[in-house]
Amino acid sequence: MQEQMERRRFLGLSKYTDDGLCPPYSIGKYEFSEACTGCGDCISVCPEKILRISERSRLAVVDFGKGSCSFCGACVDACKEGALVKTGKAPWAMKAVISSNCLSYQKIACRACADFCEMRAIRFHPGLGGQQTPDLDSEVCTGCGACLVACPNGSIEMREVKLQEEVL
Ligand code: SF4
Ligand code: SF4
Ligand code: SF4
Repeated sequence: MQEQMERRRFLGLSKYTDDGLCPPYSIGKYEFSEACTGCGDCISVCPEKILRISERSRLAVVDFGKGSCSFCGACVDACKEGALVKTGKAPWAMKAVISSNCLSYQKIACRACADFCEMRAIRFHPGLGGQQTPDLDSEVCTGCGACLVACPNGSIEMREVKLQEEVL
């Protein structure tokens, strides 16, 4: 199975396309693309309604446009293909990243992201010119997406971020 996946990956035959984020608890980007059949079982049980089938890849993907992830694990329990598995580690490597078009950098008062972050991963501190600017602690961020949903300016995206301790 592993050898087959490696070969498909080498030949560019993997179903994986960069079309949306793999769901939390995915067994790995490429491994997930091989295991997920697009049956939709995870989608129907997700209480937050943030999963959908990608039209391009026909795989389950996360859509933060509808809400954030509570990491309830219902999708894992529903997946019969073993594409989503709890390992005891963090559900995924996704972290929120604030872009330079954030309203606070334009001296517009906004703290919506911090207000919606249950982990309190976003703090504001005085920046150049005295305006308050956000500082996001990736060590604390779980990648739940609540800040992305709350941001009125589309200034937050989710990225796979390797923390220092994972790189070492
Ligand atoms: S962990 Fe829960 S909220 Fe998150 S995608 Fe799975 S079912 Fe939805
Ligand atoms: S993704 Fe979730 S935990 Fe991370 S900063 Fe945003 S709201 Fe906080
Ligand atoms: S909610 Fe968006 S625009 Fe507002 S401070 Fe946070 S990142 Fe900036």
